Amino acid sequence: QKPTAIITGASSGLGLNAAKALAATGDWHVVMAVRDYSKAARMARELGIPRDSYSILHLDLASLDSVRDFVESFRASGRRLDALVANAAVYLPTAKEPTPTADGFELSVGTNHLAHFLLVNLLLEDLKAAPKKSPLPAPRLVIVGSITGNTNTLAGNVPPKADLGDLSGLEAGVKVGQASPMIDGGEFDGAKAYKDSKLCNMLTVRELHRRYHDSTGITFSSLYPGCIASSGLFRSHYGLFKTLFPLFQKYITKGYVSEEEAGKRLAQVISDPALGKSGVYWSWNNDTGAFENEVSGEVADGEKGRRLWEVSERLVGLA
Ligand code: NDP
Repeated sequence: QKPTAIITGASSGLGLNAAKALAATGDWHVVMAVRDYSKAARMARELGIPRDSYSILHLDLASLDSVRDFVESFRASGRRLDALVANAAVYLPTAKEPTPTADGFELSVGTNHLAHFLLVNLLLEDLKAAPKKSPLPAPRLVIVGSITGNTNTLAGNVPPKADLGDLSGLEAGVKVGQASPMIDGGEFDGAKAYKDSKLCNMLTVRELHRRYHDSTGITFSSLYPGCIASSGLFRSHYGLFKTLFPLFQKYITKGYVSEEEAGKRLAQVISDPALGKSGVYWSWNNDTGAFENEVSGEVADGEKGRRLWEVSERLVGLA
């Protein structure tokens, strides 16, 4: 059996293009873990991904039951697991009111962080069992991060900034219609909820590395693939923003990256032996390629990472 990578949100943007890049190596089978089966099938066909190099499995991250069902379906497929990529996300910068997941969590935190947190915890066993004879030095678990969750950068300092505060909102359940739907216990803000969720993604990778790297040998990584300003992530933004943002990123910040190039970068973090170090937040320099980037003080806060882990475990029913 070929090495297998599961990629969540592989029906568009970064996930789809990473699936394409991995499949193109001929060495990988990709499981596209998606909420919309027919969209994934159509997009894979449109991009010309060879039919025998992928399968599509249903996963709706807005429901913890769906996460558990997905894990069962994946195990029933009999495939080995060599790489797990938590890529899917929602970004709701113009939302005036919070939307709940099936479990009542605020949608960005519930989808981007909590559902992925459950998924990676459940599939850790499968990654540990990856056959040792593989083209990879070790199994890998990747959670896609973002510059916007890192306040040590210019982009990370555009308000509203990511800030998990004292985690009081998360401790109270980040439930819509109850106390606060925000992790820090504040008023709902869709853009901040997204940034907070990406900060959680990066804290989770560091905590995974601390807890499990030495005992399992799994490589845990995060990355900022560049600004994929034309991706579907910005679908709910204002029309003018959608026109100007890619131009701004292309010509002013020069941070723009195409979906195809971003997909190659993610595929590199999944499979390139040179990127096998665990606990790293990868970024790219247009001229020199991948490098180990610095993270903000909050991302590096080990105590916060530990508390985030414990509260998240409780909210998803693992503790
Ligand atoms: P897209 O919107 O193109 O991709 C997001 C994917 O997530 C889509 O395939 C979407 O599915 C899927 N998704 C959303 N909700 C759910 C759900 N409930 N269940 C299952 N899948 C779901 O955006 P990008 O490709 O740009 O984003 C991918 C990752 O890259 C995200 O983690 C994002 O935070 C990160 N990122 C993006 C940057 C950018 O500039 N765009 C910069 C830095 C990081 P569907 O196809 O059905 O809509």
